[in-house]
Amino acid sequence: MRVNWREINAARNTYAALHAACDQAGYRLHPVRAPEPEVTCYSLNSINYSRYRDEIASASCITVVGGPHASACFREVSGTADYVVVGEGEKTLPALLSCIEEGTSHIPEGVATAEEYHPSRSVVRLDAFPPFSTIKGYIEITRGCPHHCGYCQTPCIFGYRMRHRSIDAIDIWARRYRDIRLVSPNAFAYGSDGRSPCWEKVERLLRVLRGNIFFGTFPSEVRPEFITKKSLELVTTYCANTRLAFGVQSGSDRVLTALHRGHTVRDAETAVDLCRDYGLVPVVDFILGLPMEEEEDQEQSLHLIREIVRDGRVRVHRFIPLPGTPLARFPPRNLIPGAEKLLGRLALQGAVSGSWCGGDTLL
Ligand code: SF4
Repeated sequence: MRVNWREINAARNTYAALHAACDQAGYRLHPVRAPEPEVTCYSLNSINYSRYRDEIASASCITVVGGPHASACFREVSGTADYVVVGEGEKTLPALLSCIEEGTSHIPEGVATAEEYHPSRSVVRLDAFPPFSTIKGYIEITRGCPHHCGYCQTPCIFGYRMRHRSIDAIDIWARRYRDIRLVSPNAFAYGSDGRSPCWEKVERLLRVLRGNIFFGTFPSEVRPEFITKKSLELVTTYCANTRLAFGVQSGSDRVLTALHRGHTVRDAETAVDLCRDYGLVPVVDFILGLPMEEEEDQEQSLHLIREIVRDGRVRVHRFIPLPGTPLARFPPRNLIPGAEKLLGRLALQGAVSGSWCGGDTLL
C-alpha cells in the first residue's frame, strides 16, 4: 500500500517523527504536494486547516488528517477526511494504516471517522519511538505540560503530565548533529514534573551531549520562573546560545492570573535582569488582544515591552482563539490607540518582531 505525506512547512518536525514511527512499522511516508493514491496523510494546525480543507474533501484517495486542529475539532474534520488521528500519532497512525491495508472495519484507538470515535487510552512513551530517521528533525525531549495557559493547545493535546526522553536516547540521536536543537515546552523543566525544576537532570543531559547545544531557545523555549542563577550558569557553561527565549505574554498581573500563567510580572522582570547579568539576550514573547485585557492591561504590556527592548528582543503575537483551549470562544480585543505605531517603530529598530495587526481568523 502506498502511503503519502502531504508536505506542509509548519508540520516538518511532525513529518520527521511520524516518518520514523511508520518506518518502524513497515510503512514509508512518501512526500507529496497534492493528494495521491492510495493514502495521503496531513498534519494541520488551526491556522492552515482552512487552506487544505477543500483539497482533502475533493481528494480521490483515502485521506488521514491529524495535528492540533484535527485533534481539537475531530468531529468537524471527520466530515471532510476519511480518518482523523486525535492526539499523538506515533502509535495511532501505523495502527490505522495497518487496518486500512487489511481492509478491516476495525477503527484503532485514537482515530475518529464520521461514524465512530475510540479515544486513546494510553500515551506515547518517548523512548519507544525515534525522534526522526532518514528525514531529519529536532529531538523532542519532553512532551506534555502541567500548566493551564488559557490560549494554549499543548496540554489539551499531549496532557498535563510531562514525559521525558531518556538522556541515553537523546544522546544517541544528538550525535547525528553538530548543532543540537531540542524540542520542549520548557527546556529547563527537563526531567521534572514541570513545576519544580530538577537541575541535576538538566546538567546531566547537557554534560553528556557533544556538539553546539542550543537550549532555552527555539524550539525549546523556557518559562520565566525557571530562569535562575542556576539555570543560566548551566546555559553559559554548556551551551552555544547567546539568547534565551521565554514567554511572558502580558505585563499585567491581572491578565496573567486570568490566563493561569502561573508566574507574575515580577518573575518576568527578574528573568530579564538575570539574562542581562549572564550576558544572554532575552527574547520575550507577548500576546496582545487577549480577551480579558482592559486598556490599562495593554498599556502595562507595552510598558514592559519598552523596558525589555532596551537590551533584549520581543516577539509580539495577536491573540488567536484556538479550538480546544479555554479561550476558544472568546474573540480578540482591539489594540489600544498608539500600540501599532509603537510596535511598528520598535520593529523598524529591529527590537520587535511578530504579527500584531489582526486579521488572522479561524474558520
Ligand atoms: S504556553 Fe507553555 S507553559 Fe503554558 S500551557 Fe502551553 S506549553 Fe505549557
